[in-house]
Amino acid sequence: MKEVFRRIYGTDPEVVWAAPGRVNLIGEHTDYNDGFALPIAIPRHTLVAARHRQDGRLRLHSAQVDGPVIDLDLARLTPGAVTTWAAYPAGVVWALLEDGQRIGGADLHIDSTVPTGAGLSSSAALECAVAFAYNDLYGLGLSAPALALLAQRAENGFAGVPCGAMDQLASACCNEAAALHLDIRAGAHEQVPFDPQAHGLSLLVVDTRVKHDLGDGAYAALRSGCEEAARRLGLAALRDLTPADLPRVAEDLPAPLVPLARHVVTENGRVAEAVSRLRAGHVAKLGPILTEGHASLRDDFRISCAESDLVVDTALAHGALGARMTGGGFGGSVIVLAEEGWLEAIRIAVTAAFRVAGYQDPHLFPVSPAAGARRIA
Ligand code: ADP
Ligand code: MG
Repeated sequence: MKEVFRRIYGTDPEVVWAAPGRVNLIGEHTDYNDGFALPIAIPRHTLVAARHRQDGRLRLHSAQVDGPVIDLDLARLTPGAVTTWAAYPAGVVWALLEDGQRIGGADLHIDSTVPTGAGLSSSAALECAVAFAYNDLYGLGLSAPALALLAQRAENGFAGVPCGAMDQLASACCNEAAALHLDIRAGAHEQVPFDPQAHGLSLLVVDTRVKHDLGDGAYAALRSGCEEAARRLGLAALRDLTPADLPRVAEDLPAPLVPLARHVVTENGRVAEAVSRLRAGHVAKLGPILTEGHASLRDDFRISCAESDLVVDTALAHGALGARMTGGGFGGSVIVLAEEGWLEAIRIAVTAAFRVAGYQDPHLFPVSPAAGARRIA
């Protein structure tokens, strides 16, 4: 990183920060409903080498993007002004300025091992790496959760993606060998010990390498559907529903909104159940919760797709303890929980099933819960 930085900018970076991608164990599409989630950070990182500048310019370069250094004026950062990948890092700087932080410009060089658009949150990894680097460069003293929320503000307000806060909180706040139990409304999180390897288990990520176009508008539509359901029920958010409310909900809501509410209620329940099983040391019993979560996303939220369903079904047929699509939906990645001894059989079966179906080969890699953003140089 340092050498490339020197080549691009002609000086040494002052700091290098790394922020990880994430997979969510359970609690999907619950963050923007004020609910609960249980992500882990994965050992794939976005790195940012950074040096501050006195002249109010923000210069950006990414090893993943061809083209010259992007040179922006801090004074002219307004939503809509940047429409390329640079909206994510520039958005973080904009969010810091909006927050009233006293910051100046910077030279940033970015490199990453988080696949983009695979549902592993390369966007949050990028935002968090930049937020933490800036916090360090300018001695802002902001906490990890505060930086995560500024990163989310960048994605919502500057990059124009209406995501919840889970991805950024995971990238910022996760611990090694733990899952992060998020209570979005309370603004609270706690570490839940989760070390599959210590239990002879493995968590496999299967990147289906498909991203169906449908996903772009669908996320916003689902979010507004959930908000409309809450409004019609006179609630601040669907978080306020309990399973006992579901029969009433089925009568009070228009038919298309009922399954959305049902998913959010049952999914929040699954997060609570997953946390209690992990706390009791019953790690393998996470499996059925993952599979139930997948069924809910497939049947109630209707955001799975043939490729993700094929991974889940094939993995379960070949000994997996549980499997589910993770992330926003319509492609991206699936997570599979399995005993280590079954991993190879699952890998072979999923790859073969994709070939038979005529899909491109998926990328499969085991992950273990990793630490959140940290300074590495
Ligand atoms: P995901 O977060 O699931 O990977 P998103 O669509 O939310 O998918 O974010 C992917 C986008 O984030 C990319 O299209 C690109 O604009 C930006 N991005 C992520 N990582 C990098 C990187 N290393 N360099 C440049 N842009 C990146
Ligand atoms: Mg993203």
